[in-house]
Amino acid sequence: MDFLGEIMEKRTLRETLHSGYGQSFDVDQVFFELDTDHQHLIIFENETFGRIMALDGVIQTTERDEFIYHEMMAHVPLFAHGDAKRVLIIGGGDGGMLREVLRHPEVESVTQVEIDQAVVDMCKEYLPNHSAGAFDDPKATVVIADGVDYVSETSDKFDVIISDCTDPIGPGEVLFSSRFYEGCKRCLNEGGIFVAQNGVSFMQIDEVSTTAKRLSPYFSDVSFYSAAVPTYVGGIMTFAWGTDNESARSVEASVIRERFEKAGFKTRFYTPELHAAAFALPQYVIDAI
Ligand code: SAM
Repeated sequence: MDFLGEIMEKRTLRETLHSGYGQSFDVDQVFFELDTDHQHLIIFENETFGRIMALDGVIQTTERDEFIYHEMMAHVPLFAHGDAKRVLIIGGGDGGMLREVLRHPEVESVTQVEIDQAVVDMCKEYLPNHSAGAFDDPKATVVIADGVDYVSETSDKFDVIISDCTDPIGPGEVLFSSRFYEGCKRCLNEGGIFVAQNGVSFMQIDEVSTTAKRLSPYFSDVSFYSAAVPTYVGGIMTFAWGTDNESARSVEASVIRERFEKAGFKTRFYTPELHAAAFALPQYVIDAI
């Protein structure tokens, strides 16, 4: 088959996040595809990134590079906090974040609030290495609900809140609202830390400005940290940071290393030194905050 025929024959998924630009993936095999009650969900095989999940045409997670994102979003707030017992994850239906949070021996309970049961069910079945049994951990409780309602209504309190959400489109849009941030503040314990995926700053710089503006009324320390995740195209991904614990963002790498070594688990991307460095931001991101 000639080259064009090959392309026409192979199904490809072209990401729809950015207008006029996007990465595409050969779809070697579709494991599952459905219009759920909330979004279009597909899980497919790609020879370079392994199994991939996309929601509403936007890449959410791949087997090959998920460890970067999940390690940086879980371990930075947890090692900065130092003694988080109760953790809330908003979104995170693939289970990767839950897996990483549960590696911290000091964590006594993790509540995960995911809007779409289908994402949890299909990721358990077709992306089993993401959760790696985390959903069955007795410390874990999965609640199927809209995260913005949960944080506005729960009487529970948490030491760390991780918003592992989609982009601010579709069901994920409310997770970038003032109402959501207000709700997160109300259910954080004293000294608690809030973090959220906040997009690829070079491509979505307005989201940095908007999040900084919307978080500021609720937290005395609002900033970002970053990591480059290959399939979140366009450069570094920024993670929003909100806390009243103003020393949390500048814990010495030596202290983080002590906590890391005491926790006693191995990572593939996160290091205490990278943790400290991740808060150093490019000037254009600083200007946008
Ligand atoms: N790593 C991905 C990223 O950075 O784009 C996010 C991964 S995770 C799959 C995103 C999850 O957020 C999905 O499971 C989606 O169903 C969930 N979600 C979207 N809107 C939500 C909401 N309002 N409340 C709770 N979960 C939500």
